[in-house]
Amino acid sequence: MMNLQDGIASGQPADARRRRDLVKALLLSIHRQLASISSPQKIRLMEVCGTHTMSIFKHGLRHLLPDRIELISGPGCPVCVTSPGQIDAAIKLSDIPDLIVATFGDMLRVPGSQGQSLAKARARGADVRIVYSPVDALQLARDNPDRNVCFLGIGFETTAPVVAATLKMASQLSVNNFFVYSCHKTMPNALEALFSSKESDVQGLLCPGHVSAIIGEQPYGFLVEKYGLACAITGFEAEEILLGVLSLLKQLASKYPFVDNCYPRAVSPEGNPSAVAALEQVFQPSTAVWRGLGSIPGSGLAIRQQFKRHDAESHFGIEIEEPNKVSGCRCHRIITGQIIPPECPMFRKACTPENPMGPCMVSSEGACAAWFKYGGERL
Ligand code: SF4
Repeated sequence: MMNLQDGIASGQPADARRRRDLVKALLLSIHRQLASISSPQKIRLMEVCGTHTMSIFKHGLRHLLPDRIELISGPGCPVCVTSPGQIDAAIKLSDIPDLIVATFGDMLRVPGSQGQSLAKARARGADVRIVYSPVDALQLARDNPDRNVCFLGIGFETTAPVVAATLKMASQLSVNNFFVYSCHKTMPNALEALFSSKESDVQGLLCPGHVSAIIGEQPYGFLVEKYGLACAITGFEAEEILLGVLSLLKQLASKYPFVDNCYPRAVSPEGNPSAVAALEQVFQPSTAVWRGLGSIPGSGLAIRQQFKRHDAESHFGIEIEEPNKVSGCRCHRIITGQIIPPECPMFRKACTPENPMGPCMVSSEGACAAWFKYGGERL
């Protein structure tokens, strides 16, 4: 078994048959490990990353794991955690004459607090365009020198360095009609906010592989020290996720939690210092409002003074008003692991991918979309 695990962790290529064998062997180990944990209670493990959520559903891992293990989704889908006030502000931006709003496709259909969306704004005549990277948005600005272009910066530590590099490029090339509305968020402080809550009964965390590739292992240390959480940095293949689950169970059984890097082929202990340096050069920590988690100091990324001329928030005077009234959508409770999608009364009824009522049903990484597409109920 150890050889199999070492093989996964080192990234040896695995053909379909070998991967099936790995999955079977890991499931067997998970069952055995679980038997060594005497408490009969459910073991709640959270996957923080939206890509993990989709992969868990796609591979049917919820069905394969023992009933005692409950996998719940956390605040790792960047579109889902964008606050309703920020969505409203993006929609308002699109009303500015002659402004082109450039965004990733997932943002288009996310409803704001008044039932509006960028897709509806576009139908009314706003110029909203889908781009695949911030560099595409910069090019759009260069191709349209008589118009302003605003890129909606949504994402975590994974996406933000690319936006930082694009802002540096815009500054060097003096593309003064290019702006970024920075709604970026960073993970560690949000995890602190989530797990400092007395209501959290999560025992282990599958830490996000992509974010960890940038920030490394150390930023999760406080979760072990302060909250006794077992942590496993995990990749996205079925066998990699199962390896992470096995690590969490071993940590819980030994009562010796630590940050286990089960994804060393992509994540080094120190992360990616160049990406972090680019990020720190362009952005500074700021308070950000998260859907479901509220206002969290130090969990946002504001554009530094040196690059202010590209900052949409100051240039267009964006004022973010978080609505007092929460719609019937329960995304805020899904993101924090308090409920699962079928517990939302609108799931599969009023709310479907064709007619989404909240971001978790819109985003390709949203928990509601995953439950809808693959079904999550136990067999
Ligand atoms: Fe929101 Fe729809 Fe998910 Fe319910 S099912 S939480 S309404 S996105």
